[in-house]
Amino acid sequence: MFKKILIANRGEIACRVAATARKLGIKTVAVYSDADAQANHVQVCDEAVHIGGSEPKDSYLRWERILQAAKDTGAQAVHPGYGFLSENEDFANACAAAGLVFIGPPASAIQAMGLKAASKQLMEKAGVPLVPGYHGADQDLALLKREADRIGYPALIKASAGGGGKGMRVVNSSAEFADALASCKREAINSFGDDAVLIEKYVQRPRHIEIQVFGDTHGNCVYLFERDCSVQRRHQKVLEEAPAPGMTESLRQQMGEAAVAAAKAVNYVGAGTVEFIVEQTGYNSPESMKFFFMEMNTRLQVEHPVTEAITGLDLVEWQLRVASGEPLPMQQSDLRIHGHAIEARICAENPDNNFLPATGTLQVYRKPVCSSFEIPNTSGIGAEVRIDDGVREGDSISPFYDSMVAKLIVHGDTREQALARLDEALSQTRIVGLTTNVQFLRHIIRTDSFATAKLDTALIQREEKALFEQEPLGLALTAASVVANTLHREAALKGHDPFSSRDGWRAYGVAKRTFSFVFHGEAHTAVLTYAHDCSLPLQVGEVQGELSYREDGDALHISFAGQLARVQVFHEAQGHDDVAHVFAPQGATRITVVDSLAHAGEVQEAGGRLTAPMPGKVVSFAVAAGDKVKAGQPLAVMEAMKMEHTIAAPADGEVLELLYAPGDQVAEGEELLKLKV
Ligand code: ADP
Ligand code: ADP
Ligand code: MG
Repeated sequence: MFKKILIANRGEIACRVAATARKLGIKTVAVYSDADAQANHVQVCDEAVHIGGSEPKDSYLRWERILQAAKDTGAQAVHPGYGFLSENEDFANACAAAGLVFIGPPASAIQAMGLKAASKQLMEKAGVPLVPGYHGADQDLALLKREADRIGYPALIKASAGGGGKGMRVVNSSAEFADALASCKREAINSFGDDAVLIEKYVQRPRHIEIQVFGDTHGNCVYLFERDCSVQRRHQKVLEEAPAPGMTESLRQQMGEAAVAAAKAVNYVGAGTVEFIVEQTGYNSPESMKFFFMEMNTRLQVEHPVTEAITGLDLVEWQLRVASGEPLPMQQSDLRIHGHAIEARICAENPDNNFLPATGTLQVYRKPVCSSFEIPNTSGIGAEVRIDDGVREGDSISPFYDSMVAKLIVHGDTREQALARLDEALSQTRIVGLTTNVQFLRHIIRTDSFATAKLDTALIQREEKALFEQEPLGLALTAASVVANTLHREAALKGHDPFSSRDGWRAYGVAKRTFSFVFHGEAHTAVLTYAHDCSLPLQVGEVQGELSYREDGDALHISFAGQLARVQVFHEAQGHDDVAHVFAPQGATRITVVDSLAHAGEVQEAGGRLTAPMPGKVVSFAVAAGDKVKAGQPLAVMEAMKMEHTIAAPADGEVLELLYAPGDQVAEGEELLKLKV
């Protein structure tokens, strides 16, 4: 076995590989770019070498620098992870030339499977079923059009060099063909520098089912069953599970054997995945399922943990053993499936805005309770909840790399149990500072289609209504949570003494306090009353109820207007706005607190005293003496801690007198203006 390896990647996969290396007593060398100087993968490895600028072409794709780093640190082998150089046959060859072991297949296998068209010609010879289509070398326009007409519509044009869901166009009719071809070729040349295409029949109700294969240098090759990766957006995977729902033993065996035949046709060594597109006439009707070869990915796949969870095996360990010349640890007849596993990809992106990637800082990053980063144990069953990530709270998601933040993997005895665990784990995942798809993932797994395993690649479009622009908590519960959290925070700051606090508590007279919010683009107010009997009547929009709350660890149990929830609230400054993120078991949402300092506006029945809640500078007054004001109307702007805060009228009333001028410094608790309510 190797003593030291270099990991030519970053993020979660670099951390994942390092974890297994540590387990096996192998030293690790990380490489990193400028942007990743403080990254987690650098910290978890034993040594680290800076290889260049933040852009991948200046660092993670610069293989001369990477090979030099391996030489300088005495690494014996290079693990390429996925993406970057993992499917680059020149890099694999260069490793060999430098006397390093490339932890992956032979360069010849990478090359054979590198172009979709050429690999299909090979598979045809190996007897692996192919999607009806055209994958010839002749790229004559008229010929391509004739082939598409022959195949029939809808047809799919694919860039032969494509990957990552790019360079694909669905064509619905002969008339659309020329335009679709032109745009596909444009994308292909821009993304892959090669505009050769192939044409496939667009399979109906397609499911993406792939087979994990493993070969060794002794001529053995096995399959580690299937993964269903049908839930996709932009032809990219969102959720992956194993085993595939509705799979029969006989279909599994046929697909497994076809995948092994594919691998053997290219003398495959190491971990690989043979991707099939599966046609079905209805859902959950295995007898109608027909599978066709799509492509082979000659590397470790992002979704490999679901296979680890159902087999209890560590695939990175297998990669290292095979690369160091050992035979496969198990034979086909020893391999078994245990239970069901699902992986959710947590990405920095906005599902409500076309899944556009987002950047930002993980101001809050709380993970579900899990056996964090646990490599499946040797008893055969993996962890119930596992998180593979490469980031920590406080880290930034930069624009240079992938938008994937973490992978959440759950395992259960049945699909239902795994699903319930996934829902729970997603509800415990708390990210503030970055837009992510966490809520969207919860919506998907709760759809009828996903829950009942009616899977195909159009699931997200089909369930559109249930997935986008959903509000899981509602205004009343959200606002009540923010109010409760504010009171709780203030009490904590002020040592729980209601009589010395400035939060509206009065021994005599009823105090009211108004909170102004913007929720889904609309303004709302919540009016809290500090009643004599210590109860807290609260009015949120039209909803009237009594607010109560108690602390429970890092959360609050709140009760308001017939709703109960254990909530956690985090405040995030967004420019001049104070955005509160509310997390509850039902879901998470966000609400803008318009005047975070408006709780300054405590109003007593006897008259209005509007005070500054903390030291700051008066920026401006929006009103003058004698003005009539409505509840929630901005009265003044104060600046504190480089942030501007608008102070709004706590109730309808009349401004009697302004007590300061713009530019004045005001101490905490000083009266800003006199308001008659
Ligand atoms: P990539 O290299 O980008 O992963 P693939 O050939 O693996 O490209 O296809 C990506 C996805 O596109 C598949 O997972 C599937 O959802 C869809 N797809 C590919 N081929 C077909 C087809 N012939 N019919 C229907 N959908 C397809
Ligand atoms: P899979 O087919 O294994 O599910 P995808 O094709 O969705 O994987 O993802 C592989 C892609 O991940 C690469 O093509 C690349 O764009 C991206 N990638 C490469 N390296 C990293 C990394 N370290 N972290 C996250 N994403 C990466
Ligand atoms: Mg693919």
